[in-house]
Amino acid sequence: MKIGIYGGTFNPPHLGHLAAARTAVDVLGLDKLLIIPDAIPPHKELPEGTPNPEHRLAMAAKMADVLLMPEVAEASPMELDRAGKSYTADTLAQLKEEHPGAELWLLMGTDMFLTLHLWREPERILELAGVCAFGRTEQDGEELFAPQREHLQKAYPRAKITTITLPGLVDVSSTQLRELLARGGGGEYLPPSIYGYILRNGLYGTCADLKHLDIPELRACSYSMVMEKRVRHIRGTEEEAVRLARRWGAGEDMARRAGILHDCTKYLTGGEHIAICQRYGVPLDDLERAAPKLLHSKTGACMARHIFGEPDEVYEAIFWHTTAKADMSTLEKILYVADYMEPNRSFDGVERLRELAYSDLDKALLLGVEITVQEMEDRKLPVHKNTLQALAWLREHGVTTER
Ligand code: ATP
Repeated sequence: MKIGIYGGTFNPPHLGHLAAARTAVDVLGLDKLLIIPDAIPPHKELPEGTPNPEHRLAMAAKMADVLLMPEVAEASPMELDRAGKSYTADTLAQLKEEHPGAELWLLMGTDMFLTLHLWREPERILELAGVCAFGRTEQDGEELFAPQREHLQKAYPRAKITTITLPGLVDVSSTQLRELLARGGGGEYLPPSIYGYILRNGLYGTCADLKHLDIPELRACSYSMVMEKRVRHIRGTEEEAVRLARRWGAGEDMARRAGILHDCTKYLTGGEHIAICQRYGVPLDDLERAAPKLLHSKTGACMARHIFGEPDEVYEAIFWHTTAKADMSTLEKILYVADYMEPNRSFDGVERLRELAYSDLDKALLLGVEITVQEMEDRKLPVHKNTLQALAWLREHGVTTER
């Protein structure tokens, strides 16, 4: 088993770190990549305003999630959990003990590679792991790496050293980024989910007014609340909802914002859903109490209204996007249907649903509701009363689907 160890302050993790991690996994053929934020870096002071260890670990975990390699990449708290300075030699020794047969590879950018001989116990480090070094800027070429590689190779003949070129090199440092963030910029150097995490928690001197975010910031906040694998669906729903809003003359901006936020509480636990409903006075029925995961539409609506300051129309559209209900507004129908047939969905009947969505929105809504009811019945699960009321209402009002 090949394990890559990517240590750093990650204060915060940025697109440069991600490009390096992605390439190293591919080039080295890593089975595992451990992203390890240090507690106290031996070679530099943690700057004032550094987020607490929980936030730094959470951002490292987001970095791992953004790579979309669930079996491979993970953040490790091992240095944050260890008292004192975070010496790499200790980390490698601990990993060697935990994974006796594994081949360890230490990943590092130019600045770290060029000073490696000055770290504590370089000999032990190079005995425990191979080193994979990469440039941080276009200027960091062979002429910079070769002398250091030769020097290390001569001093430590058994060392395994490889240098790789990053195709997606991003020339930025966390120091630059912290300055940009404090001045209201920096989003372009961060994966959206990490940018959103920073904004929501007011890290690095950002003091975003969450109730008045622009669209990229709202997307970032929403993505920061979910797993990365869900982002494609959220993006698809946003785009589909906007297209449907144009087709049916509803407010495009509200459709967009509802699409962006509709699943933002998808990964909360049942207890968290119930707590949010209690906090914001949303009544729960027996079915929801028994299966609180059903509540993500209601808790998502609460977040949209109370955290992100969205208007009633957006609140209602998100609130009803899972169960539907009798007598829905155009925006409510749009979000329900967009969520069902956005381009990443694939199931029997989705093409018919896509046609109907643009030719007769009520028929599309009815088809979506019918498919849901059928699915629940097939799985012998109870159907939510609001869904049955939606079905009855549409049929009473003469809507039919010829499938
Ligand atoms: P700071 O500016 O706070 O010193 P940094 O941007 O250098 O931070 P670190 O967390 O110290 O980031 O870096 C962790 C590792 O990532 C180091 O090995 C570093 O060389 C490497 N690295 C940092 N930035 C980049 C980048 N833009 N491209 C490739 N590697 C990078």
